[in-house]
Formats: sequence, C-alpha cells, structure tokens
Amino acid sequence: MRQSNLFTKTIRESPKDEKSINAKLLIRAGFFDKLMAGVYSYLPLGFLVFSKIKNIIREEMNRVSGQEVFLPTLHPRKIWETTDRWHDKEGIMFKLKSRSGKDYGLGWTHEEVITPLVKKFVQSYKDLPVSVYQIQNKFRDELRAKSGLLRGVEFVMKDMYSFHASEEDLNKYYEKVKGAYFRIFQRCGIGKKTFLALALGGAFSKYSHEFQTITPYGEDTIYLCQKCKLGLNKEIIEDQKYKCPQCKNKELEIKKTIEVGNIFDLKTRFSKAFDFTFKDKDGKDKPIMMGCYGLGLGRLLGTIVEVHNDERGIIWPKEVAPFLIHLIALENEIKVSKASEELYRKLQGTEVLYDDREDKTAGEKFADSDLIGIPIRVVVSKKTLGKNSVEVKKRGEKKEQLVEIANLNKFLKSFI
Ligand code: ATP
Ligand code: MG
Repeated sequence: MRQSNLFTKTIRESPKDEKSINAKLLIRAGFFDKLMAGVYSYLPLGFLVFSKIKNIIREEMNRVSGQEVFLPTLHPRKIWETTDRWHDKEGIMFKLKSRSGKDYGLGWTHEEVITPLVKKFVQSYKDLPVSVYQIQNKFRDELRAKSGLLRGVEFVMKDMYSFHASEEDLNKYYEKVKGAYFRIFQRCGIGKKTFLALALGGAFSKYSHEFQTITPYGEDTIYLCQKCKLGLNKEIIEDQKYKCPQCKNKELEIKKTIEVGNIFDLKTRFSKAFDFTFKDKDGKDKPIMMGCYGLGLGRLLGTIVEVHNDERGIIWPKEVAPFLIHLIALENEIKVSKASEELYRKLQGTEVLYDDREDKTAGEKFADSDLIGIPIRVVVSKKTLGKNSVEVKKRGEKKEQLVEIANLNKFLKSFI
C-alpha cells in the first residue's frame, strides 16, 4: 500500500485524555480513533492488525474443533431471567426498551443465547461433545474505561462454549483449550510474558484460569511462583497462605499484569437453568457439562503494544504486524523515487507499506516509521543508490545493513 493513499496520518502530540501507552501510541500512529471513553474506531492500520489477530485465534479455535457462529447482540429479557442474571448486581448490562415497551439487553456474554441454541440440536450422548465459538462485539457498562483498548465499553471478544457428557470429558477439553490459548499468545509475540494464573471460579468450581501477561502498567497483580511459574490472582493468595498450591513453593514474586484471557468450567450452571439434559448410553437423562473460554481481541492487541514498544513507538511482532516491510523513498528526487517505485513493484506479494509521500522530510519519514512500528524498514536514498543498495533495518534493532538491490529479495526472505 502507498502511504500517500492512507487516509489517516500520524499525530505528533499525544492525546491528552489518554493515559495508557497502548492508547497513546495506537492513536498517534493512526491505528485507532476514540469516539468516547471505552469506544474506539478501527482505522485501516488497526484493522489490519485486528484481522491478523482474528485469523490466528480462528485457526487455533478450529484446531480444537471449535465451530464458528455469529450470535445476536440484542437479547430478550426472558433468557436473562431464566438464569437469574437480568437484575445483575454489578450493573454491567446495558438495557434498552423498544417502542412497544419490550425489554432488551445488549450481550456482555453469551451463555444465555448459546445454551438454549445448542439444546435444540443435542439430545443424546452421540451428539456430544460440541464446541462453538464466535468473534463478536460485547457491550459492558464498565466503570473504569481508562486503559485504552484494554478495557472497552464496546469491544470484540472471542467467546467459546463447550458441551460435554461428563466432567472428565470437559476437563480433557479444558486442557486442550489451554494449549490453544498458549499457541495464540506465542504467535502474537507475548508468549514469553504470559502465564496461567488461578483465580476464583464461578459458583461451582474452585478455580478458574486466567492468562496474565506481565507488563509494567497492568491493571492486575499476580503472585508468580518462581518454581513452577503458576500465577495466583490477588483474590486467592490469602486463601492459599502465600504458598503455591501446585508445588507448595513459597517464593512468589509480585507482578503487574493484564488479563488477556479467561477460561471457566461452568459445569451445570447454565445447562440446569435451561433444563438442558441428554440421554446417556443407559437411556438416562443426565445434565450437560459446560466450559467457557473468553479472549478479548482489543485487549490482546493493546497488550501486544504494552509489551512491544520503545520511546519512539510500537514494535510489532511479525505475525500481527500491519505490514512486514516499510519501504521508504527518503528524498524527493527523481532517481530515488524511480528506484523506489521499481522496488515497490518487485516487492508485490510481500506485505509492503511504501512511503512515497513527497511532502515529508527524511526526519518525518523516519519518525513515522518508528511510530508505526513495521518489523522491517527498507530505505532508498541517494547515498544507498550510489552503492546500488538499500539500507535494511529491523524495527527492534539499532544496526542497519546495506544490501545490494539485486540481492534484496533473497536477503529479506532470510531476514524475515
Ligand atoms: P476483567 O476482570 O478484566 O474485567 P472479566 O473477568 O470481566 O475481565 P471475562 O468476562 O471473563 O473477563 O471476559 C473474557 C475476556 O474478555 C477477558 O479475559 C478479556 O480478555 C476480555 N475482556 C473482558 N472485559 C473487557 C473489556 N471491558 N474490554 C476489553 N476486553 C475485555
Ligand atoms: Mg470484567
């Protein structure tokens, strides 16, 4: 893509109403725009990153046999009364009334939609297990929408729900999904900083599991066991007497973290409410066991930025970067732009953002490139052309290298 065609521009000044690193950088670099607290528009660069994250999540959910659906956001009052969550204590649900006086809720989670839906199709043990997910907007009346993309009032979540004939099967599947989550975080470049943490579970299970990413400005705190690397959420640390429940070690380190994902075994909490049973091999009616698996896409995107940045801007991990290569025609000169245009043509097929802007200085182009954070920068200038070369640099590294234009394609293949 030509940067001169990009309708967004970078912004020099940090937005005054944003405190978090992710929001400041993503807005300045032109990835997102704020509509109001907790609600953001995805701009072309942001949408490219978002789409890559979405594809990674989709691939990993499909690998654990998740089937993708897309459920409504507008919910009738009745399904929420069935589970006794219409009058939620926290007041997280946005509620609205139709012209004729009907009550609706905006979906902040989807157990109330998915459980009766799957019930329509599952009657026997032969129909189980089933796992269904969606990637869709959620609405939550959050009180602390101050962390940019990390805590939205409207945000996109991947939520998966699984249905099983036994607790044993649920547990087996639950472990498989844990693996899928770690693969997602690995591919998104935060694998090394993300740990499984125990948290208080729902009404029926002792623990739920959170995936917590260590960052200097995280909203959450975990106690990370120095031996087995299990995290303990603040809520349960006292309960455990400051000892790791897994390996009994007492060396726990306090870390600031962001909760990027959360998985629960719901067991029969929702199947009971919707009277959802199945006929087992012996012909008896048994309750369905459920699990649920949440992952916020905006939160994940924001977390990646919180982990990968420096004083000049974002440093995208390659699998989620909006483009792989930032090609820069450094000077507004015939020779430079001719060579750059030719390179741009040759690089088609690779994801390239081409800074062909004629009204920007070299300094402005470098600053924008660092702010946007594309993994590899390729600079064409009078100086490099004097040596039939271009200058190649990784965003995360200081050292640049001169590479002969004739060898560039081959070089980039090994460099990426
Ligand atoms: P938190 O404790 O941070 O409010 P939660 O426990 O309410 O999170 P869940 O309801 O389990 O989270 O949602 C699943 C996932 O959705 C979370 O792990 C997080 O990645 C994401 N998420 C939750 N709330 C938000 C939000 N307001 N904005 C963006 N993502 C969110
Ligand atoms: Mg919450």
